[in-house]
Amino acid sequence: MARIAIIPGDGVGVEVMKQAVRLLDVLSGEEGLALGWDEWDLGADRYLRTGTTLTEEEFTELSENYDAILLGALGDPRVPSNIHARDILLGLRFRLDLYVNYRPCRLLHPDLSPLRHGAERPMDLHIFRENTEGSYGGLGGNLREGTPQELAIQEDVTTAMGVERIVRRAFEFARERELGSVTLVDKANAMPHSGRLWRRVFREIAEEFPELESEMQYVDAMAMDLIRNPDRHEVLVTSNLFGDILSDEGAALTGGMGLAPSANLNPGVHALFEPVHGSAPDIAGRGIANPMAAARCVGLLMGYLGRGDLERAIDEVVTAAIAEGVTTPDLGGTRSTGDVGARLADGLAELLTTHP
Ligand code: ATP
Repeated sequence: MARIAIIPGDGVGVEVMKQAVRLLDVLSGEEGLALGWDEWDLGADRYLRTGTTLTEEEFTELSENYDAILLGALGDPRVPSNIHARDILLGLRFRLDLYVNYRPCRLLHPDLSPLRHGAERPMDLHIFRENTEGSYGGLGGNLREGTPQELAIQEDVTTAMGVERIVRRAFEFARERELGSVTLVDKANAMPHSGRLWRRVFREIAEEFPELESEMQYVDAMAMDLIRNPDRHEVLVTSNLFGDILSDEGAALTGGMGLAPSANLNPGVHALFEPVHGSAPDIAGRGIANPMAAARCVGLLMGYLGRGDLERAIDEVVTAAIAEGVTTPDLGGTRSTGDVGARLADGLAELLTTHP
């Protein structure tokens, strides 16, 4: 039995996770798929109530007793320091060593593209962002803070081990999916030290995958190319910082935050799935958050559990709902979070009975 810990978290996270659980309910009837889940009360409410973010016992239980974690979102205006989000989300990411941030950017419906030619050249891009190193390690500090002479150092850290494992995962993924190419995105002209390391390791690993084309492109050129040629690239592998930015660009080119799922993986060991969007305090509690990103996280979870067929089925029902206009206001519709969640759950149940 695959055990899943559900952390609805804060704001719209709670609303969209309710809909994700509806899909789990449908999926748990599938033959050959044994699923069990528990909901965890972690987030701003619990922090404000008890002063606790994530205890050691909770961390141990989450890491040892579950096959995967499904997280809604963390962030709440009542906790301006955001300490609970840092402790829980970054705590899990670093302590479970979730070194792969995987973000698929696929145009599910032609109307979702903001590009003039987006529909004729639909994006189907897989971004592998290094998730534990680079500029986001928090190394550095400030001197003479608050004065005109202030100095700030923000270190950018790259290790051969860190590069090797994310690049390898990107190539393995391309091979598993029988894709054609993997592209390294960097800024080796302006950042030559880390650039040399990324490029050396990338070339070495590419040799182990002779059937795949390997390319290298600077991040500024890639940012433009994704707009000019949205269907040109298949798999991108890149650093934490560039991956953060390019994957948001990819989300914007394929329907926006309400649709974008992500996986944080230590492949085969730990997995955490979360919508790319945050807790969206501006719309929380109004019943209008788009639950499709959360639904697609359930899809990524199914893929991770070896059920790519169910991942595709979830994308199919999301696409059908969009085509029918059963959408929340962010996609131009008038439906509520619950309406869309019900449409997805019913659609999935029907799809699974008609195409078992
Ligand atoms: P956080 O600080 O938790 O990341 P945020 O509001 O700063 O939250 P996001 O939650 O990513 O950042 O949201 C950015 C904007 O996108 C929100 O203000 C909201 O209007 C919109 N948005 C985000 N998620 C959704 C969603 N699921 N459905 C509809 N709109 C959304």
